[in-house]
Amino acid sequence: MKFNPADKIQDLQYFGEFGGVNPSISDSSTYTFLAAKSMIDTFEGNLEGCYLYSRHTSPSNLYLGQALAAMEGTESANVSASGMGSISSVILQLCSQGDHIISSRTIYGGTYAFLKNFTPKFGISNSFVDITDLAKVEASINDKTKILYCESVSNPLLEVADIVKLGKLAKKYNLALVVDNTFSPLQISPASLGADVVIHSLTKFINGTSDTVGGVICGTGEFIDSLRNVNDGASMLLGPVMDSLRSASVLKNLRTLHIRMKKHSENALYLAKRFEEDGYKVMYPGLKSHPQHALYKSIYNPEYGYGGLLTLDAGSLEKADDLMELMQERNLGYLAVSLGFYKTLFNAPGTATSSEIPQEEQKQMGLTDGLIRFSIGLDNNIERTYAEMKECMEKINILKVTPVEM
Ligand SMILES: *Cc1c(COP(=O)(O)O)cnc(C)c1O
Repeated sequence: MKFNPADKIQDLQYFGEFGGVNPSISDSSTYTFLAAKSMIDTFEGNLEGCYLYSRHTSPSNLYLGQALAAMEGTESANVSASGMGSISSVILQLCSQGDHIISSRTIYGGTYAFLKNFTPKFGISNSFVDITDLAKVEASINDKTKILYCESVSNPLLEVADIVKLGKLAKKYNLALVVDNTFSPLQISPASLGADVVIHSLTKFINGTSDTVGGVICGTGEFIDSLRNVNDGASMLLGPVMDSLRSASVLKNLRTLHIRMKKHSENALYLAKRFEEDGYKVMYPGLKSHPQHALYKSIYNPEYGYGGLLTLDAGSLEKADDLMELMQERNLGYLAVSLGFYKTLFNAPGTATSSEIPQEEQKQMGLTDGLIRFSIGLDNNIERTYAEMKECMEKINILKVTPVEM
């Protein structure tokens, strides 16, 4: 049977100290040892099942890491205090001074800023490329290249990466393919397609309640151990540790991820189809008009659909702003960054979540001023939501691409 990420999560069972149906939360930063020798062995990473200090690992963080490794089909995983904590740790672990990274040009604004403005301070250089153009990706590889970096479904343009082909390219040149899978948990399983490292911002769909930030790195046991190494591990030494109380609550939310993802996808597909029929300029991987629709269909786990994100081009920033304010007034969603909440969230990424990317580059990649990114919520009656959104869109008179039938 085909790998099903949600079944893998469900198969994991943890009991609390007194038979609780949830694992006990480890409310300690440090742990006692009965024998002094065991402490030395633990420091050297030679003792399984012993805890040293919670920046290194804690029982609660290991439970959550195990569940996420099961979901992604990797040997191991390490949770962090944020998605950026995971991304920066992976990059600094894999690269040394003089190394080079090839990254998709359409990525999360924070990742873009980290690669563009931060890593050069350490002599790590970057090429930002159109990740859908494999010839260009290959031509950018040099003998210092260490990482191929992309998002399965990119932020904010919803470009889909051909992970299978990128994985083959990475193998051929001995690079690490690092994939941020934040936009498509359960829908796409990058490790099974050829990714070496899979990252998530847990802040988004996986936690799903917009009450915390968090991140995870999924990879081989060897790589995850290297990140936690007390002497030279980026996760250990940079210190982006998640608190145990939080990892316990994220684990509980993870238990319902499959139900939520199906509903997010169902609602987003419904709206995308209707908006497109109405002649609006909508982008959604589930629409035949999406440039990588066929690619997405060839790699996804169908029961979780095409995801909760869609974009709509209102035509100008003014119209985008007017539409978002009106929709918020009508309680159809919130004008807010982030995604994966029960409520629909929207923002104009050109001036918000992707504002780190210079105007000129935004234009090149097709990020227009009027683009609105929607993270569609868990609305019970999406027909009702559609009717009200349509009223707002007509009132603001946003851009239409095809003539309307009378
Ligand atoms: C939000 C986000 C991040 C960063 O995660 P934080 O938890 O905010 O640090 C990284 N990648 C993508 C695709 C995101 O949406």
